[in-house]
Amino acid sequence: MTKPNKDKGRWILRSGWKGLCPRCGKGAMFTSWLKMSETCTVCKLDYSFASPDDGPAFFSLCFVAFPLMFLVVWIHVTFETSVTVMLLIAAPLMAFGCVLPLRPIKGWLVASQYVNRSVEAGTEKLWAQMKEREKATEHETEKK
Ligand SMILES: [Zn+2]
Repeated sequence: MTKPNKDKGRWILRSGWKGLCPRCGKGAMFTSWLKMSETCTVCKLDYSFASPDDGPAFFSLCFVAFPLMFLVVWIHVTFETSVTVMLLIAAPLMAFGCVLPLRPIKGWLVASQYVNRSVEAGTEKLWAQMKEREKATEHETEKK
């Protein structure tokens, strides 16, 4: 993979899609399906900056669930299927259609956050203070 500065968009899409570290492009971003690693196994990038929150669910809902819902309604109206058949088609379609894109979307959001160095506007100082406090408590627990 190339350096992030050369082609930001492509880098974000690629590392997010493959679930790879947005800095080195080699280490894994996830330890399981949606659980983030604490640090990159290759370059030790600290993932504590990553806070995609409800982003993956929101984007999955907007760009997958709504179009799928229209498809399901269209199938029902066009082919006049029974409710039982519709449930058999719609339930797995909606479930898998909404869950499967969560990981790449989360990867894209985290990679985008790293590449663009984004934090919530106006909260940079608060984040820095919070990080300092966290480090201080970590050192205290290490001493004990
Ligand atoms: Zn890395």
